[in-house]
Amino acid sequence: MGKIAIISGPSGSGKTTVCNLLEKDPRIKKSISVTTRPPRNGEKHGEDYYFVSPAEFEQMIRNKELVEYAMYCGYYYGTLIHPLEDALKKDLIYMLEIDVQGALQIKKKFPQAISIFLLPPEKKTLLQRLKQRNTNKEQDMLLRLEVADKELTYKDMYDYCVVNDDLEVTIDTIRKIVNVN
Ligand code: ADP
Ligand code: 5GP
Repeated sequence: MGKIAIISGPSGSGKTTVCNLLEKDPRIKKSISVTTRPPRNGEKHGEDYYFVSPAEFEQMIRNKELVEYAMYCGYYYGTLIHPLEDALKKDLIYMLEIDVQGALQIKKKFPQAISIFLLPPEKKTLLQRLKQRNTNKEQDMLLRLEVADKELTYKDMYDYCVVNDDLEVTIDTIRKIVNVN
């Protein structure tokens, strides 16, 4: 029987970096979300996200193909139900890198899901990392920082908070939390 692990945190806290490193372990698999956000340079359809139009996303909502979904900074993001059900039948840790709204929906449906909130060492680290990643326009970056303040107020609802300072320590800590050592 597989397990669900939710990873949330403000933009720039390091979720994608951490999930990609965790996924090197064959016992850990990352869910590929559906989004209406345009792909960033280097992002691939079917690998980073399934990139769809708003009409396609709304059709997926109507078809009940999503186990949760949310609107974040003007775009839809959602988790497909079938791959999640398949992962649960196997002995896998299925990682959902989703926002706080999605995490609440998953916890309601799967109370046994382990939820982890990733924090930056300092608030100013978020802006530094977003600038370093250099994938968002200035306006979009500011909106993400504004949303970050709201997201941080949800951190106490998570089972664990992990400060992502040293990447290796972060990976080690999360591997212990999900019990793959
Ligand atoms: P998120 O998915 O939470 O928005 P990313 O994983 O895209 O964040 O990380 C944002 C930026 O910060 C990237 O450039 C990434 O390389 C960098 N980063 C992530 N974790 C760390 C860390 N522990 N120390 C330094 N830089 C990091
Ligand atoms: P980004 O645009 O930086 O890739 O993601 C923006 C936000 O959307 C992040 O907080 C990320 O965790 C969240 N997100 C990504 N996929 C999903 C999803 O399937 N559902 C929900 N609710 N949020 C998601």
